[in-house]
Amino acid sequence: MEVTQTMKEIVQQKWTKRPLIISGPCSAETEEQVVETIQRIAATGKVDMVRAGIWKPRTRPGSFEGIGVKGLPWLLRAKKLTGLPTMVEVATGRQVDDAINFEVDVLWIGARTTVNPFSVQEVADALRGKDVPVLIKNPINPDIELWTGAVERVAKAGITQIGLIHRGFSSYGNTEYRNAPMWHLAIEMKRRYPEMLFINDPSHICGRRDILHEVAQKAIDLDYDGLMIESHIDPDNAWSDAKQQVTPEKLAELLDSIIWRREDINSEEYHAALEKLRQQINHLDDELMQIVSQRMKIAEKIGEYKKNNNITILQTNRWNEILQRAFQKGEALGLSKEFITKYFDAMHMESINHQNKIMNS
Ligand code: PEP
Ligand code: MN
Repeated sequence: MEVTQTMKEIVQQKWTKRPLIISGPCSAETEEQVVETIQRIAATGKVDMVRAGIWKPRTRPGSFEGIGVKGLPWLLRAKKLTGLPTMVEVATGRQVDDAINFEVDVLWIGARTTVNPFSVQEVADALRGKDVPVLIKNPINPDIELWTGAVERVAKAGITQIGLIHRGFSSYGNTEYRNAPMWHLAIEMKRRYPEMLFINDPSHICGRRDILHEVAQKAIDLDYDGLMIESHIDPDNAWSDAKQQVTPEKLAELLDSIIWRREDINSEEYHAALEKLRQQINHLDDELMQIVSQRMKIAEKIGEYKKNNNITILQTNRWNEILQRAFQKGEALGLSKEFITKYFDAMHMESINHQNKIMNS
């Protein structure tokens, strides 16, 4: 007798598959658009779950704010036709109920909702007693405590399958990205939740098609578990996020051109070589700390002189001189200006703190 899997079992399996690929339109627009996009996605054979925004939290009113409940049967139809599990974004308790009533398989909390503990709590309360996996996008502002808080609220509601989506952070002014990735924050979140499904969303980080590949590859290089990339049958005419969407066929090409990495391999030679290099790194890190500690002792001596002569700790000219020297030397040593700036900012602050202690002792 042939045993067919239930949708729940399929979702369970996909949840642990690596890489896990999610795609679908930013927004559900019409029944034809939803069904055709998802059928063409299914035809690529490269996508595990499909997404479509039904309710769209837009930064400014007047842009398309989502088709609403009317779109849920379209998604259900596409699922029945393709066998692919579906995902939608939810921001209120009512939306949780509607989505579940229409057999949506996975829910996600969007970036504009994660920022608001009231909204997250409302969604969490509606999730209580429900058996549905939930993905949580990072908040739009670079605050991983809010992201962590949302995970805690959803977990407290009894949801056991929780995943994270890194979609980048808003920043003021124009940058290369629509939302700055700030990879270090995502890395910290991964450190906090090492067992949690961790998905990267290049579409919302990039905001444009031409750099999707670069960001997706970087995420895979950083050991993300999967990708969520928006796709649409007619990207240029999409009702939301037109610039960042790609056709299902372009998506397949993009996925084919990614070099998939693994976290580990069973090779003695590889492990021995890595072990040796890691020892060198540990040794250098120890030396660096010794040197930094010596540097702080000298800063403290300077602090004594400043204290005795009633001089301010901060000397802007000297600070500029230090930075200029560091940029010059650092460049010759192959260190980026961005790194030098962060490194010396941290070093300088630590020196100021040491001097501050001396001055006020
Ligand atoms: C989306 O996924 O279409 C969306 C609105 O994303 P975000 O919450 O990351 O802005
Ligand atoms: Mn979108």
